[in-house]
Amino acid sequence: MTANRAIRRSSAVAIALLALVGSLVVAQSPAQQQDEEFARLVKEWTTRPEFLSPLVDHLPKVAGVPSPKDVLGHHIGAPKKLTYYGEAVNYYRALAAKSPRVKVMTIGKTDEGRDYVVVAVGSEDSVRNLDQYRAYLAQLADPRPLSDAQARDVIAKAKPIYHLMGGLHSAETGPPEMLMELAYRLATEDSPTIRQIRDNVIVTLTPVAEPDGRDRYVDWYYAYKVDETGEEDNVGGPPFWGKYILHDNNRDINYSQVTMRALLDWYLQWHPPIVHDLHESVPFMYTFSGQAPQNPTLDPILYGELPWFSNFEMAQMTKYGMPGVWTHAFVDMWSPGYYGFMASNHNGLLRMYETFGNGGANTMKRRIDRGGEEGPMRGSQTTREWYRPLPPYTEVDWSIRNNTNYMETGVLSALQLTAAFPKVVLENFYLKSRHSIDSGKTEAPYGYVVPAGQPDMTRVAFLINILRLQGIEVGRATTEVKLQEGTFPAGSFIVKRDQPYGRLAKILLEKQNFPDPNLRTYDDSAWTMGLMTHTEVKETADKAILQVPVESVSELKIAGTVTGDPAGSGGSWVILDNGSANLTTLRYRLKDLKVQAAEKAFKVGATEAPAGSLIVAAGQSGDVAARIKAAVEPLGLSAVAAGQLPDVRMHEVKVPRLAVYSTWGSTQEVGWVRYGFDKYEVAYDLIYKERVKQGRLHDSYDVIVVPNQGGSGKRIVFDIEPKKKPLAYKTSDRFKSFGMYGESDDITGGMGLAGVEELQKFAESGGVLLTLGTASYLPAEFGITRRIDAGRPSPQFYAPGPIVEAEILQPENPIFYGYSKKTIPVRYANGPLLRVPEEDRGRQVIMQFPGGDKAVLSGLMKGASEIQRRPAIVDVPTGSGRVILFATNPCYRWQNLGEFRMLFNAVLHYSQLTARAATSNEQRVTSNE
Ligand SMILES: [Zn+2]
Repeated sequence: MTANRAIRRSSAVAIALLALVGSLVVAQSPAQQQDEEFARLVKEWTTRPEFLSPLVDHLPKVAGVPSPKDVLGHHIGAPKKLTYYGEAVNYYRALAAKSPRVKVMTIGKTDEGRDYVVVAVGSEDSVRNLDQYRAYLAQLADPRPLSDAQARDVIAKAKPIYHLMGGLHSAETGPPEMLMELAYRLATEDSPTIRQIRDNVIVTLTPVAEPDGRDRYVDWYYAYKVDETGEEDNVGGPPFWGKYILHDNNRDINYSQVTMRALLDWYLQWHPPIVHDLHESVPFMYTFSGQAPQNPTLDPILYGELPWFSNFEMAQMTKYGMPGVWTHAFVDMWSPGYYGFMASNHNGLLRMYETFGNGGANTMKRRIDRGGEEGPMRGSQTTREWYRPLPPYTEVDWSIRNNTNYMETGVLSALQLTAAFPKVVLENFYLKSRHSIDSGKTEAPYGYVVPAGQPDMTRVAFLINILRLQGIEVGRATTEVKLQEGTFPAGSFIVKRDQPYGRLAKILLEKQNFPDPNLRTYDDSAWTMGLMTHTEVKETADKAILQVPVESVSELKIAGTVTGDPAGSGGSWVILDNGSANLTTLRYRLKDLKVQAAEKAFKVGATEAPAGSLIVAAGQSGDVAARIKAAVEPLGLSAVAAGQLPDVRMHEVKVPRLAVYSTWGSTQEVGWVRYGFDKYEVAYDLIYKERVKQGRLHDSYDVIVVPNQGGSGKRIVFDIEPKKKPLAYKTSDRFKSFGMYGESDDITGGMGLAGVEELQKFAESGGVLLTLGTASYLPAEFGITRRIDAGRPSPQFYAPGPIVEAEILQPENPIFYGYSKKTIPVRYANGPLLRVPEEDRGRQVIMQFPGGDKAVLSGLMKGASEIQRRPAIVDVPTGSGRVILFATNPCYRWQNLGEFRMLFNAVLHYSQLTARAATSNEQRVTSNE
């Protein structure tokens, strides 16, 4: 940019002139050539003059540097134009090729093989020295080696990184468009505001946080939505975004999905003090200020920074005359599981917008005041409030360019504030990091012990490795550990709180004490990792933990063990069931071998083998010993050789022909079950209404799982309301992303009553139908289980995902293999309140909720007495098969690992559930007389 200096000089004159004539906003450089067509079209595409701002009503033209239009063929915000991910990446690469102020970094691959990229924009100095600036931020992120004076020195040289993310939610189509224009503007514009931003701040952006979903959504838009005119003819979105989950990519607290994980890894290398996640929903723009309930462990500075930014944005945009910007009463600061919280969890600042969007790029009439609506949109958003001084209109024509104008003006205002106070942002980041370390030395708890020698160390590894991927330091004690809470063996895992992410460790491991039962929260109220994974974690108020000598753990791998030799073909291998979910994987890895399960605990030499332990006879064809070793060791399991087949009652564990049923309208929680099955290598077919309506289900399947979905039986049965024309989801040359994960000629209509009848026939003819969470309304409400009723709690009941006690009533049932305690923690899933006739309870209710406040282990349950003695799992014989209704959700996100085995056991021991229940029924009948 050789012309820069001249431009700078002349624009300085322009500023002075403008100031003289009294203009308040110097938003463009008169010395710079502007794109007149852009200005004209943007004005045309903006539906009212007040929906435009002086920050975005113009765009410079710079010879040699491509604007979005130069690459895409149209300006950002053009009606009926959405950009595919690949086109967006091409644009950023073209911009980076011509501008020394832009750099594109590839940070991973998506599930469907797309490059996952982050783009950096800043001054030439910033971009040339990115690694140096990254190193400064790393020093502030872990200031343990620094004195305050040294930290001040680093702050003097450093620049804040402000990270922006768009396109996490694929239906929220505006942010990925806006970010391209923003990048170009930041790289090229010479107005004083933009120059200050470019010089003082490094802007990085994730152009599309869920690239696979973006392309599928854009395909869907061009296939079905491009002619929509308003809310009346809205056909909704595609059945999938990314491979597994939709909105829940913003609830992936353990970073299971590959893109979520890639960005966390990038975050922990680059340490942006601010991460700003751009969403769409409420009118016209909501800028999050961190309302209650707030997590009290996070630094109080954060709660000052949040409204500092949002109020500045609101004031600026109101000054530009833009109505409808507000700062309060939507989403809260309780759960740490939202994607952008990677910043606040790591001593940075999380920011979030919701801008009004149409789910596409069409200009539409929108009615806003829908006060009666259920859910988070409930309540008026057009009233004047202290946090909404210039409210949105109740009816409006809204365009994607309006959406771009609002979001870009907001973001530029936030960047303006950051650029005006870059050192304040850096000081805050440093102090929040410092405070996290210091608070671990002065405030209990001082740390956590995860004791060595727990029966199932694979669950310990799951927990430790999630702490590690979050950047939390974990050590392994080199000696025995004596604390006021007890003595723990050498090798126990130690999480000390006096570390940069010590506060996050506390947030993830502690019991959640919800601050006020009268508050509501937007997502879960509890996530305590030890309870979710059924792993022992000990909190300590003993400062001595800070002095425990440890070796640092990078990643925990549990090496399995194979002990002894079965000595000939008459012997066998016993793989101990200590509760590991990996035992399921083992069965699949040995799927061609005959495997049996012990129905009671027994001894192999001196070793106690719990019920559920798997027995593999050595005499089977092939090198069984080598197969056992190859399966057991990497899975972290324990196998013991026995000289003969153990003398214990056992049954064969057949690999079932398994189907997972999904509606087309609600695939997300099915996606979590698919993810769980895939990770543990459980083979299944994903089936839809098309297969169910074909009938003869038992010819193809032994077990059908209906995951939590839809919220009611009716929604599962009737699903998406039919539209004027069919909505096909089938691959074609034009729409390549369709037909992945299933195909349909028309995704609407649901299985209908004919489908229900087929599910009933399936169970009656010997199949096992498993319904999870809210899917358990289906068999109860549609009469597949005639005698079971499903109710709903009272309107006063409120249970946003607490962790509660459940009581196992039939410990000998194979569903509970691997569970050594009778009372276990489960996540409350808001499934149906099931009612079983009293005379059937003893046989059919196999797990129940004790209920009451004392049984709430973490988080909030208001009205806990309403679930008292309610069934948590019911096993109902139906014809020659059975229906098993879980009121819990035993595969909730990638979180409640401790419950997974109940689902896996029901699948693997399907044949025995039927046989066993028949015998125990008889026994019951006799003992009841
Ligand atoms: Zn969203």
